[in-house]
Amino acid sequence: EGIGFELDKWGCPVVDKKTFQSTREGVFFGGDAAWGPLNIIWAVEHAHQAAISIHAYCQGASVADRPAPGMNLLTTKMGLHEWAYGNDYNPAKRQKMKHVDLAERFKTMSIEVELGFDAEQTAREVERCLNCDVQTVFSDKLCIECDACIDICPVLCLTITHDGEEADLRGRLSAPAPNTSQDIFVSGPLPQTKRVMIKDEDLCVHCGLCAERCPTAAWDMQQFVLQLPYAGRPAGEKKGGAP
Ligand code: SF4
Ligand code: SF4
Repeated sequence: EGIGFELDKWGCPVVDKKTFQSTREGVFFGGDAAWGPLNIIWAVEHAHQAAISIHAYCQGASVADRPAPGMNLLTTKMGLHEWAYGNDYNPAKRQKMKHVDLAERFKTMSIEVELGFDAEQTAREVERCLNCDVQTVFSDKLCIECDACIDICPVLCLTITHDGEEADLRGRLSAPAPNTSQDIFVSGPLPQTKRVMIKDEDLCVHCGLCAERCPTAAWDMQQFVLQLPYAGRPAGEKKGGAP
């Protein structure tokens, strides 16, 4: 009241979740001030979104028109069995963090309790990475249905079968896919038999063996890069306007 924009029952400004604009045109909020405590990652994202709105507002453009994000996929293949990422997936359990001895901890309140991983533990942890930024990308037109990728997949997440309704398909996979909140990948019809390639992303460890084994490069391991728009700069454009 008296400051020109509405406050909610918690005394926080009422803010549009898309534009970050308050009920007073040209006044923007983000972070804790807008929606209460969140983490620093959200605070940074709010600032980016608010900056996009402020830029549009200063240009006389609509703050509701948001620039779309972009994406890029780049093959990581470097040779027959060589990838630009570490594909040697290690199924070992998470390394146990070492802690400062309990008696030591009581000597001062400001002591850092976790000692961190040593070099050997760090190397093991790195190999547990599932490389979620590296995607299995499938080209149905290239597939000759030789089944080599199905045979080699260590977690049985690939299946070639006749197309059908999703519930029916889930019951016909090499390994059951009971998690219905995770979409399954279903390719277009394969050139020879019109069957489809199905992949359960829940199981995939991104090892790249399907792509190494495939004789026609129908599978490829491609790195996904999300391109975010910034204030006055569309997604994918570098600083200074270069693409
Ligand atoms: S990347 Fe590895 S786990 Fe994933 S589908 Fe290919 S062979 Fe299977
Ligand atoms: S290895 Fe390649 S060609 Fe053979 S079934 Fe798999 S994707 Fe198709």
